[in-house]
This record gives sequence, structure tokens and C-alpha cells, in this order.
Amino acid sequence: MEIAAIPDLDPEINEVRAATANIVNHYIIPNEENLGYDNPERPRLAHEVQDAVKKAGLWAPHLPKEYGGMGIGFMKHAFMNEVLAWSPYSNPLFGVVAPDSGNQTILIKYGTEEQKERWLKPLIDGEIRSCFSMTEPDAPGSSPYAIQTRAVRDGDEWVINGRKWFTSGAKGAAFAIVMCRTEEEDGSGGVRDKMTQIIVPTDTPGFNIVRSVPVWGRESNHCEIVYDNVRVPVTNQLGRTGTGHQAAQDRLGAGRVFHCMNSVGQMWRAFDLMVRRSIEREVHGGKLETKQFIQGFIADSYIDIQAARLMTIRTAEVIDRGGDPRTDISAIKIFVPAAMERVIDRAIQVHGAMGVSGDTPLAGMYTGARTLRIADGPDEVHRIVIAKNVFKRYHAGGSWDFGV
Ligand SMILES: Cc1cc2nc3c(=O)[nH]c(=O)nc-3n(C[C@H](O)[C@H](O)[C@H](O)COP(=O)(O)OP(=O)(O)OC[C@H]3O[C@@H](n4cnc5c(N)ncnc54)[C@H](O)[C@@H]3O)c2cc1C
Repeated sequence: MEIAAIPDLDPEINEVRAATANIVNHYIIPNEENLGYDNPERPRLAHEVQDAVKKAGLWAPHLPKEYGGMGIGFMKHAFMNEVLAWSPYSNPLFGVVAPDSGNQTILIKYGTEEQKERWLKPLIDGEIRSCFSMTEPDAPGSSPYAIQTRAVRDGDEWVINGRKWFTSGAKGAAFAIVMCRTEEEDGSGGVRDKMTQIIVPTDTPGFNIVRSVPVWGRESNHCEIVYDNVRVPVTNQLGRTGTGHQAAQDRLGAGRVFHCMNSVGQMWRAFDLMVRRSIEREVHGGKLETKQFIQGFIADSYIDIQAARLMTIRTAEVIDRGGDPRTDISAIKIFVPAAMERVIDRAIQVHGAMGVSGDTPLAGMYTGARTLRIADGPDEVHRIVIAKNVFKRYHAGGSWDFGV
């Protein structure tokens, strides 16, 4: 990839982007063929790349310095991600492994000193892995207050019963952060303390992984789990009772900017592959680049990428200056994965059969893009948020100002 310094941008951000591109170009892209998880070469190669990342001071952009991360702040991290994501293998090589990275962020914000010592430290040091268990087969994930898994206090313990699924990374994890219903009547006809997140070590009796749910027709580590009278000390709860929903918002909210910048990086790569293939491939007496259908693909993809990128950067700027980003966050959550799906779809088409093969990263990127339209809150839910915010402004006598 070729990236020049962006004019008028903080020089430190440009430095981070250049250093990241250097690692991606020299260590990751040339080795992509051998970085697949089933490749015997992967452990050695991954180790080498991770060493180079650490030496370049680019390890764990999501973590503060005191926790061994880059401590680079919001904008630098956002701009770093579009460069890093040029390769689908990059994130773990830069110390960002989902869902551990989200759990680390939540433990830093809500964890007690004891919880940090026992769970966060070994998680950051790579000694253990973790998972986040919120979605349920029998309740709509798009309505977070609908969950049925319940935790009931019994003396100094929480007793948890319920069924979750799509708990990513559950097999091999040392603990799960479990979203539980903990509501109690408040004495005046209402309820309080609706949702609480609780740390459950996976070796606790009653934590039963029932199956891995196949995703896109393939084996996965997205698991269905039955919590059957799981008992953990009350000291395992994260934050105050009733703060679970807020913690889930904290996990996603601004993090969606990072995810979208990741998507922009992937689209950028797909675009690059598509253009190069169009220049090289000869069909029906001419290069693909000379065919108007293909020129249309390139032009529409350029527009999709530029629009997605600018919308995401605008959202990052709103967050950075302390504005209210909720409408913009929902807008990018809808627009960017859909734009990514369109761009990758066109790139696959231009590559013909090769596009759906494992010989380019496109096939994996495509299923990832489609999945993103469901995970992190389905599109429809975000559309409702946008419309609600707009109508609220008008009902209060104002109008929408796109400039601020
Ligand atoms: C690969 C993958 C990994 C995941 N990893 C995790 C994980 O680690 N931990 C975890 O807890 N969860 C995880 N999830 C689950 C994910 O967060 C949920 O799938 C998501 O929140 C949607 O919930 P749901 O599947 O229950 O869909 P539902 O809530 O049943 O929604 C189904 C569909 O209904 C429509 N819809 C919903 N609300 C409305 C509305 N108001 N108006 C109109 N239409 C509407 C939407 O089209 C939506 O897609 C993962 C999912 C996937 C695919």
C-alpha cells in the first residue's frame, strides 16, 4: 500500500500511519499466504511480526500506556486502523483480538483492583483468553432489555441461569463476561438494577458449552452455552448492580468508529485488488479496464469508499471535540458495512472464480462485511435511532444542522 502524509493532519497521526503501513507492507502482506490459522508456519511468523510491531511501538492501540498499550488516544487509533486493516490478518498481530480487546476495555473502566489483577493482567499478557456472553437464542439481541438469563443473589453469591449463543471465542476462554437480568422491584411499582455484567470463570460448575454454532456453513468458535445454576461470588460483578447496559454501550459506542475505520481499510484493499486485476486481465479482446461495466465498478467503489471514510472521520471528530455523536455513530454503523459489502462484491466479480477462492482475501472479507450488518446492532435498530433523534430535534422546535 502506498500512503502519503495527510496534509493538515497532526504530524503524530501521520507518523503512526506511516509506521503501521511499514509493518503491513513488509511483514504482513508478503506473508499472508502463511498466516492462516491452520498453517503450521503461523506461530513462528506471528511471533516475528508481533516483535516488529512491539519494537515499532505499535502494540495494542486500544490500551492505555500503563496497561502495556500505545495510549495513543482516539483520533490516532482511528486513523491507524484504516492502514492496519489492509490485511485481514493484522489485528491480532497488533495485539487487538476480539472479544478480548473489548473485555479489556470494560475491565479497565469497571473492574476492581482485584478483578484487574486476576483477569485483566493475564488477559493483556496473553496468558488467558475470554469471551462476552450477551446474545440469546430465545430473545432478540436487538432489544437488549429482552434478555432472559437471570442472576439472583444468594448470600454472597450470584446464581445464574439462562442460555446464550454466539458467544465468540468461548472454547478455550478462561472466563466469560455474562450479561444478566438482575432487576428487583423498587417498592413503588417500578424496577431497578435491570442488567448487570458478571464475570464467570469457564470452569465453574454449570457453565456448559452445548455446541459451536456453524457460521457461513463452517465450524466456528461462536458457542451456545447453558448457564445452569452457575454460582460465582458477588465480587465477580462488574461495576454497580444495574450498570450492565451502560457497560455494553461503552463497549460498542465509540468503538464503532474503530470498526468502521477497519472496514474502510478492507475496502481500500479490495479496491486496490480490483483495479490491479482490471489492468491485468484480458477478456473478449481487451483488458477489463476498457469495459464500461468494470469502469462503473471502479467509480462506484471510489464513491463508496470516500463517502464511508469521510463519514467515519467526521464521527470521530464529533467524538473528539466532545459533541453528541449518537446519530453519526448509527449512520456509520449502517452505511460503512453496507458500502464495504458492495465494494468487496464488485472486487469479487472482477476476479471471477478467483474472487470466491481462497487465493485472495476477498472471500473472507465479504462474509465479514455481511456479518457486520447484523453484529453490533442490526441496521434497522440504528435507522430507528437516527429517525428518533431527528424527530426529537424538530419536535423541540429546532431543525437538523448537518454542519455541527
Ligand atoms: C459472527 C457473529 C459473532 C457474534 N459474537 C457475539 C458475541 O461474542 N457475544 C454476543 O453476545 N453476541 C454476539 N453476536 C450476536 C449479535 O450481537 C446479535 O446477532 C445481534 O445483536 C442481533 O441480535 P439477534 O441475532 O438476536 O437478532 P434479532 O434481535 O432477532 O433481530 C433479527 C432481525 O430483525 C430485524 N429487526 C430487529 N429490530 C427491528 C425493528 N425494531 N424494526 C425492524 N426490524 C428489526 C433486523 O433485521 C434484525 O437483523 C454475534 C453475531 C455474529 C453473527
